[in-house]
Amino acid sequence: MLRTHTCGELRLDVAGEEVVLTGWVQRLRDKGGMLWIDLRDRYGITQLSFEEGVTSPELFEQARSLGREFVIQATGQVIKRFSKNDKIPTGAIEVKVTKLEVLNAAKLPPFLIEDETDGGDDLRMKYRYLDLRRTPVRRNLELRHRMMRETRNYLDNLSFIEVETPVLIKSTPEGARDFVVPSRMNPGEFYALPQSPQTFKQLLMVSGFDRYFQIVKCFRDEDLRADRQPEFTQIDCEMAFITQEDILNTFEGFIRHLFKTVKGVEIAELPRMYYADAMRLYGSDKPDTRFGMQFVELNELVKNKGFKVFDDAELVVGINAKGAASYTRKQLDELTNFVKRPQIGATGLVYARVGEDGSVKSSVDKFYSPEDLQAWAAAFEAEPGDLFLILAGGKDKTRKALNELRLEVGEQLGLRDKNVFSPLWVVDFPLLEWDEETNRYHAMHHPFTSPKPEDLHLIDSDPGAIRANAYDMVINGVEVGGGSIRIHDRGVQEQMFSLLGFTKEEAVAQFGFLMNAFEYGAPPHGGIAFGFDRLCSLFGGADSIRDFIAFPKNNSGRDVMIDAPSPIANAQLDELQIKLK
Ligand code: ASP
Repeated sequence: MLRTHTCGELRLDVAGEEVVLTGWVQRLRDKGGMLWIDLRDRYGITQLSFEEGVTSPELFEQARSLGREFVIQATGQVIKRFSKNDKIPTGAIEVKVTKLEVLNAAKLPPFLIEDETDGGDDLRMKYRYLDLRRTPVRRNLELRHRMMRETRNYLDNLSFIEVETPVLIKSTPEGARDFVVPSRMNPGEFYALPQSPQTFKQLLMVSGFDRYFQIVKCFRDEDLRADRQPEFTQIDCEMAFITQEDILNTFEGFIRHLFKTVKGVEIAELPRMYYADAMRLYGSDKPDTRFGMQFVELNELVKNKGFKVFDDAELVVGINAKGAASYTRKQLDELTNFVKRPQIGATGLVYARVGEDGSVKSSVDKFYSPEDLQAWAAAFEAEPGDLFLILAGGKDKTRKALNELRLEVGEQLGLRDKNVFSPLWVVDFPLLEWDEETNRYHAMHHPFTSPKPEDLHLIDSDPGAIRANAYDMVINGVEVGGGSIRIHDRGVQEQMFSLLGFTKEEAVAQFGFLMNAFEYGAPPHGGIAFGFDRLCSLFGGADSIRDFIAFPKNNSGRDVMIDAPSPIANAQLDELQIKLK
């Protein structure tokens, strides 16, 4: 080794010893007679010192000539530091340098490589290898590593085995757009990259593997957001001979294990919420349950009093922002503008304040008597100082809009503390989802999800009402995982495909291999997949998953460091028999 210790290691107990350190020059402070260098490596920072009169003039000059991010090897004696730095673990000592070797010089980095950097997002991504030297970024990857390790520990202990599945496959059923790869050996034909290993893990159950997992890259060609990347990592799991209850228990155990071992946080038993209740009470299938502020439906109380907006609405629904009666007119106007933004699409916001004496004053007072408003107060379980925020319109749209408003107000009132974790299961998702664009049903989860047998009679009369054996794990308003009990019978699977508008031929062409497998002794099975990047960002207290991915892509799906995607040579195109338009 070129070093005897790392830069995070030395303490007072080794004072007097000679050591050799290697690392990067983070900062140099030149006070004339004294010169200090903060030497950094992955493990920490150690101060090197040079003193005129003690250090030889040549060495002193050599030290003075070092620049930021030079890679050096320093030999010297550990000494007690004159003024201790409590902020770093090595702050009690410094190394009085006797020999210095420059292992490699460095150009001036394009941004400060310190905890607080002056580099913007684009610049940091272009020089991601420099960004990764920064402690907060490195810590995120260390967290990711620990989470991977604990995932493997937990699942291995329960006899899950990790099996790799192929990356060059054909289209999978997750419902997003595929990334495709042309096949040179089969001109005109393409592989698809897996949106998930869904069909393979089911086939492994048919093979008798019984408990499978894989920490695996998945690819979806979707529009990107802070919590979406074109390639992302799943903790993908499947079990055979189980009921839904077994899956929920196993993976509730998993998340508790992760919280305990990685964050030292004890998580209580996960509550379960029906999908229908989540939509009714939170307007979302991923409710943030760190705070209450549940929806209160007001149709019964507000209709037929002459206020047309409410009279015409399918649903009038509100939240009680506790203690927010002090919101100013300006703040309320801002909230109104917030819900009127095209992405949210509400037409307006009605509000009412509860005074100190319990009286209610609303923005629609001319339609409602004090007694009417008291009835609202009762419905909201109001106390003096509360603020009601009410939306009206079509049911689904209004719930969605109120969900956004609830989250915004929750944020403003400081109810969404990143250090509080509120996980739950959302269960009994609908099997199907109506798609306005294509005018047909889609599988809400994927086409291999089994319907609840007791709902199957609805198949002709009201397919949209059939519930599935499908579940999501939600933490703080983020869907961290989702899965289902699968269909394992060819007949039911065929029925499902036909419900989804597949012809028999289409179903066979796309998923014949799986249906065939079902005829060779497929055990009852089910599983789940967790979005690993999202879990990491949640554990790390961040909103963006990018910070937890070593080399992420930007919002246009580009890796700006290696400059991908990029054109390929004509010769390559010819070989693939591809002609560009
Ligand atoms: N393959 C599913 C997904 O990626 C998860 C599952 O059903 O296990 O969402």
